Order: sequence, then C-alpha cells, then structure tokens
Amino acid sequence: MILRRVVAHFRKQEWTAIALDFVIVVAGVFIGLQVANWNAARQARADERVFMQRLHDDVVEAEAKSARLRERRFTQSKAIIEGMAVIFGERERKDLSDEECVSLAFSHDYSLTAPAIPSFDELLSSGRLNIVRDRELKRALASFQQSLEVLSYWRSWGTREQHTLPDKYPALIKVRSYFDDDRGEVWSQAICDAEGMRENQRFLNNLSENADSFDGFVRDALAPWNDNLSELHRRLDEILAIDHGTAP
Ligand SMILES: [Zn+2]
Repeated sequence: MILRRVVAHFRKQEWTAIALDFVIVVAGVFIGLQVANWNAARQARADERVFMQRLHDDVVEAEAKSARLRERRFTQSKAIIEGMAVIFGERERKDLSDEECVSLAFSHDYSLTAPAIPSFDELLSSGRLNIVRDRELKRALASFQQSLEVLSYWRSWGTREQHTLPDKYPALIKVRSYFDDDRGEVWSQAICDAEGMRENQRFLNNLSENADSFDGFVRDALAPWNDNLSELHRRLDEILAIDHGTAP
C-alpha cells in the first residue's frame, strides 16, 4: 500500500510527500521495535519477580533441610578443638567429655545436607541470569554458587582422605549406635581411652591430621557457605518485602 504510494510520489516528483512517506515508514518501524522492546522488558520484569519468589522458597527449604547437620558440624568442630587440647595436655582434666569423644571419633565425617537451589540452576542453564537486575542479589548469588562449589570440593576430599579413627584404632575408640527417642534418629556414643591415645603416636598423628582438616572444612567451606546462604535470604527478604518476624 505504502510502497505503491511512494512510487506514485516518485513519478510525480513530489518530494515533500516522499519525505513524509519516509518519516512515516521510519516512525512505524521505530514504534514497532519500541513496542517489542517494552513487551520484552515487561516480560523480563514479570519473570524476574517469579524467579525471585521461587528462589526465596528454595533458599528457605535449603536452610531448613541443612539446619540440623550444619549446626552439628559447627558444634563438633568446637568439641574437636577442645578434645585435642585435653589429649595434648593443655587442660587440667585428663578425660574427654562424651561429646568430645564422639566428635573425635567422627572427625572423618563431613556429611552434610547442602540442597541445590533448583530455580537458580534453571536460570543459569537457560542463560537468563540477566533478568536479575539487583546488583546485590547478583553478587549474593555468585558468592553462594562459589561457596557451594568449595563446600562440595571439601566434602568429597574429606570423605576420601580422612582417617576413620574408630576403624583404625578400635582399642582406643569404641562406638555404639542407638535409636534416640528424643531426637527421633539413630545417634552414636563413643568411649575413648584418653591415656591410650596419648601413648600412641600414630593415633596422635592421624587425629591431628583429621582435626586440622575438619577445622579447615568448617572455617573455609561450611562457614562461608552458611553465611552466603543467609545473605542471599536476607537480600531476597528485602527485595520481596518479606518479614519472617523473630523466627525466620
Ligand atoms: Zn525469607
């Protein structure tokens, strides 16, 4: 339609009309592109909101699922350090507490529930990370992803390399597992021969190696992952205006 009109204007050499046709065509294309851009931007905003809500749900679930073992590993790390001090004669008392004993016995155990964040994985694999506009959230996501990789590296390394002390030194550590009614799960108890441990240099070497690595695992992998997960949750709550009250 417009092409036929332009040709007619050319034949008649109607330059003003030609210029006007040109402006109409350019403006039409411009408006068309602009509308497409607006629609794409509006869709991206809607997708971003849906993504952040799903991400929040995933983060809450990851926190809940990992809470029990996460806390246990932090407590265990403190008990290992204290138990080491007792074994190496840095404390007045000579015997280990039950908690220190069982913590040393399982100082090879890096098991932890670190659930994936499916909404984030989906966004990454579809290459649509750019729909997230908030810089702080982007940074929190990148830090979380990095700390998750460090955590899985430490866990697989620790499981492979650490000494299973009750298995190697059954005369020094005796383990008994039982079903704990209060906790509703199988729990382990250990009996430690602290004096025998002090006299066995090979045991002390293996224990020191385990304790050193466990401390590294907690300090360099578990704590940063824990902090990054909390930071991610904090930023999402801020953006989505979610208030969990005093008990998140
Ligand atoms: Zn929240």
